[in-house]
Amino acid sequence: MAGVSIRNVEKTFGETQVIHGINVEIADGAFVVLVGPSGCGKSTLLRIIAGLEDVTGGQILIGGTEVNDMAPKDRDIAMVFQNYGLYPHMTVAQNMGFALKLARAETADIALRVGRAAEILNLTPLLDRFPRQLSGGQRQRVAMGRAIVRNPQVFLFDEPLSNLDAKLRVQMRAEIKELHQRLKVTTVYVTHDQIEAMTMADMIVVMHDGVVKQAGAPLELYDRPSNLFVAGFIGSPS
Ligand code: ADP
Ligand code: MG
Repeated sequence: MAGVSIRNVEKTFGETQVIHGINVEIADGAFVVLVGPSGCGKSTLLRIIAGLEDVTGGQILIGGTEVNDMAPKDRDIAMVFQNYGLYPHMTVAQNMGFALKLARAETADIALRVGRAAEILNLTPLLDRFPRQLSGGQRQRVAMGRAIVRNPQVFLFDEPLSNLDAKLRVQMRAEIKELHQRLKVTTVYVTHDQIEAMTMADMIVVMHDGVVKQAGAPLELYDRPSNLFVAGFIGSPS
């Protein structure tokens, strides 16, 4: 496993700077939530960690190694998106095994790893179904399954629950936390929902306009917000 270091990271799109010198140290095995209003730079920062965007300044380290020039596929991370990105023409098992197949893993090994992930996620009875035959929660689990089979050092989640209804969202929060407790993989989880952040995080990083306003344990932010933005954001109903 590996921690993630975000050091003086800056990002400019054209003329517009959207990330302004962000520093965050994410401990090995931690569950860190990046939270903040829409447009504050959460997805951009996550995509930078994944290697899907270059930085215009600063460094990303994974497990102590600088990865700025490393391609996404070499970073040993797995990302789960809000829209799941499942392949409609593939079964659940094929969706979960696809990345391994691309990496030329052996068929027997793929089956083993898919089977194990399916068990963890209660997907075993659904392995031969197609995405259109699944509920929203089941699709979300398949998307997580695709990440788990790769046995990554770091999980990145970008608002994975925002397409689900409120009841399912609460259930999936608990499932994601259980998964983390079981696998202990360093996780960076993006949401704009402060309740989600408060209930899931070991450490919350509150962002606003491309800067970190405060980072700390949920109760620390709640009890001792260091500025009015954090106080207002954490204290307001979602
Ligand atoms: P969040 O995920 O917090 O809603 P984003 O990281 O998606 O925010 O976006 C942060 C800012 O960067 C926004 O102002 C957005 O319009 C801008 N942005 C994001 N991606 C691009 C891009 N590829 N080109 C230009 N601007 C972008
Ligand atoms: Mg976003």
